[in-house]
Amino acid sequence: MKVTRARIVANGFRCLCPNCGRRTIFMPGRMFKVNPSCPNCGLRIEVGDGAFLGPFVINYAITAFGIVVPLLVLYAAGKIGPIAALALSLVAALLVPLLLYRLSWYLWLALYYFFLPQDVPANLEGRAPDDE
Ligand SMILES: [Zn+2]
Repeated sequence: MKVTRARIVANGFRCLCPNCGRRTIFMPGRMFKVNPSCPNCGLRIEVGDGAFLGPFVINYAITAFGIVVPLLVLYAAGKIGPIAALALSLVAALLVPLLLYRLSWYLWLALYYFFLPQDVPANLEGRAPDDE
């Protein structure tokens, strides 16, 4: 196996293609449009019709449990007022998903190929990738 699970995860956190390590997941000049596959190595990025759901769930989890819930805990503990908790939660719920959109795609691909490392092009060794 040429690309290890550790390399796949490390590339995900560094916003690089899990297979070739290049920053090629998104279309050049486009902030939110992913390529169907890596233009450098051919890694499938949009794997199936619901491919967007993985990044969506990661983005939602980070926003809800990493930001909004702690804000509600601060409110419940009396550290911030209700208006501040509501306003900060609203701003976070609108801005954080936009800011984390690209990272969530890279993390999703790292998670996906962590469990299917044999499907990255460098590890295919002549096999065709499995159908989804
Ligand atoms: Zn690649």
